[in-house]
Amino acid sequence: MSSVRTRFAPSPTGFLHVGGIRTALFAYLVARHDDGKFVLRFEDTDKKREVEGAKEHLILSLNTLGLKHDEGPDIGGPFSPYIQSQRLEIYHKWARKLIAAGRAYADSYSVKELETLRQQDQQNKTPFLFRNHRPLKTIEWDGTVPLRFKSEPKAYEWHDVVMGDLRSSPESIDDFILIKSDGYPTYNFAHIIDDLEMEITHVLRGQEFLSSIPNYLNLYEALGISRPLLATLPLVLGPDGKKKLSKRDGAKDIMDYIRDGYLPEALVSFIATLGWNDGTTQEIFTMEELIAKFDLNKVQKSGALFDEKRLTWINGTLIRSKTIDDLYELAASYWPEEAADAEASYKRLVLSLLQERLKYLAEIPELSLFFFVEPQIMPELIKNNKHLKKLSRDELINLLTVSLASLNVSDFSIDDLNSRLNQLLVSTNQKPAVLFSLIRIATTQAPASPGLSDTLHVLGKERSLLRIKRQLDSL
Ligand code: GLU
Repeated sequence: MSSVRTRFAPSPTGFLHVGGIRTALFAYLVARHDDGKFVLRFEDTDKKREVEGAKEHLILSLNTLGLKHDEGPDIGGPFSPYIQSQRLEIYHKWARKLIAAGRAYADSYSVKELETLRQQDQQNKTPFLFRNHRPLKTIEWDGTVPLRFKSEPKAYEWHDVVMGDLRSSPESIDDFILIKSDGYPTYNFAHIIDDLEMEITHVLRGQEFLSSIPNYLNLYEALGISRPLLATLPLVLGPDGKKKLSKRDGAKDIMDYIRDGYLPEALVSFIATLGWNDGTTQEIFTMEELIAKFDLNKVQKSGALFDEKRLTWINGTLIRSKTIDDLYELAASYWPEEAADAEASYKRLVLSLLQERLKYLAEIPELSLFFFVEPQIMPELIKNNKHLKKLSRDELINLLTVSLASLNVSDFSIDDLNSRLNQLLVSTNQKPAVLFSLIRIATTQAPASPGLSDTLHVLGKERSLLRIKRQLDSL
């Protein structure tokens, strides 16, 4: 049994976007790769930022993507509870140890006094460090004022599994707050204690924590504990490749993608390759492949580009790889209302035609509606078509009339439709871009559709002929 233990430790302050999920996924893969354990922990010590329902939503998001945790708030485990606000006793116990060792002290400054100290430093053009202003007289910590770490500034050199060998100078170390005046610990303190108590071996997290690591190293020493392996994941960059992905660039809730009919396995594959690849050109990985191949040492240091088009491509590719049975099941909740009474066999045929072009399942209503309802004639489809707009009304009427005559005696099998459509090209001396577009518009009122003979075949003879007649009448 491996002793690898990783954790995902979100704060329940909102939904998970690709960046957050990537941290979870990488931690999950590291654990699974080594037959270890993946732990979920809620870091809810900043009560002001907590969002109602976020905890449930985070668990739903993880489960939907198949990132099942082995221990966590909802399922318990040997280190319960897994919610920081329920672990206050534990932090206070460690805080008292630090006080006893002379490594923590009560911060008795008022907000105003602290502000004055900051301003003084600013005027003197010296960076503000709390440790330069330690209160001269120490008071006993009674829990009503912040408890601060008494740091021992020094230079550090350490190894980050992703970022390599890093170093810092004593200036990056300060007396940070361990426990706030509301009794809750800070992230900086609580996560160190939890990672220790929960026997976490690998800490994976985003770059925003990199500058605080020297402080953590100092605290590990003060606590006399050995630290876990640290892995800082590269930024996820917005489409311009320069800035961190923001909500404006589409950093949306992962569950929104699910609702739009992105397959969980497409999201997992896409997110896994945000900053990692296996050294080959393979772009789509199953979860099993990821578990087998994932290696933190192969995670890149530089920012990873968020390219939604790549996600859409992966999703379309995976949709096409589905059997029609599987796709039919996945599509169940995506049909337009108008399909409610349609036969399952008809819907399956429609789906098999759409499968070639579907990028995500929420496209189904738009792409399939004409299979279920008589579409309204849209004259602008002909007017805006670059080939058809050159034809006169008589030419259009003539083309539709000869097409109607030929299709009228077709048995509407795919083979017969194919050969008739080809004969029509010869007899009318037209290109497919002209003739087929016209028949397509007449029968679907859509600028694009699956292959014409397939579409006509599924629509059936009666519907198709009726629609061509209606188009003719409208000209
Ligand atoms: N609670 C932190 C956050 O949500 C977690 C950071 C960590 O993984 O240590 O950003």
